[in-house]
Amino acid sequence: MSRTTLLKVRGLQVAYGGIQAVKGIDFEVHAGELVCLIGSNGAGKTSTMKAITASLPSQATELTYLGRPMAGQGAWDLVRQGLAMVPEGRGVFTRMSIAENLHMGAYCRRDTDGIAQDLARMYALFPRLRERRDQLAGTLSGGEQQMLAMARALMSRPKLLLLDEPSMGLSPVMVDKIFDVIREVAAQGVTILLVEQNASRALSIADRAYVMESGELTLSGPAQTLLHDPAVRAAYLGE
Ligand code: ATP
Repeated sequence: MSRTTLLKVRGLQVAYGGIQAVKGIDFEVHAGELVCLIGSNGAGKTSTMKAITASLPSQATELTYLGRPMAGQGAWDLVRQGLAMVPEGRGVFTRMSIAENLHMGAYCRRDTDGIAQDLARMYALFPRLRERRDQLAGTLSGGEQQMLAMARALMSRPKLLLLDEPSMGLSPVMVDKIFDVIREVAAQGVTILLVEQNASRALSIADRAYVMESGELTLSGPAQTLLHDPAVRAAYLGE
């Protein structure tokens, strides 16, 4: 079976001063997959995500999106080609309303009708955002901001959505909601790379997973297999 590889990473390294946080890792994400990267605190997950989006200097023998090197492509070029990122800490525009944030997500698009349709789709997916569409984003709760950040990223109609620790700091109810939405977005055909500390939740919705430890990928495979792997359960699921 030939699958389109959206993201291919080979020999990725990130160093902070003399400290190697990511030690030459290889992984890939194919079209239609929900892939998660799990690991404990400080394993290097966020550094990996930031390196992919060039928000951090890194080295790699290969780092390609849709078969083309990402280096040298501007952020907007990548967005136009369907790459969207929801960073850790969300990064919503706090002094803009929900509606304005969502329009910013569609900044690269010119199809007015399509944008209006997607806006309606986002409000259907996140009723909480519809109720509060004129509220300033900075006054939303953490969970609501996470939803807004995700909806804003989806407004660019991404092929590949990068999600960095979406459950961080959220109440259990909000975590449930966010994971339901991630699953739904994946079911709608968006490919997702999910970085998560909440290993059991991430593995339960992912197709495939990589386990990161001290800057290296130590295990990979179908998410269901890893979910039932005794070593993974002992190390990451508190059993
Ligand atoms: P967490 O789940 O706690 O966010 P993580 O797996 O995302 O962890 P990273 O944030 O990528 O891990 O951190 C990997 C390592 O790099 C850690 O040891 C961390 O202390 C270190 N590190 C991260 N950012 C910096 C920085 N700006 N300067 C120096 N060291 C850093």
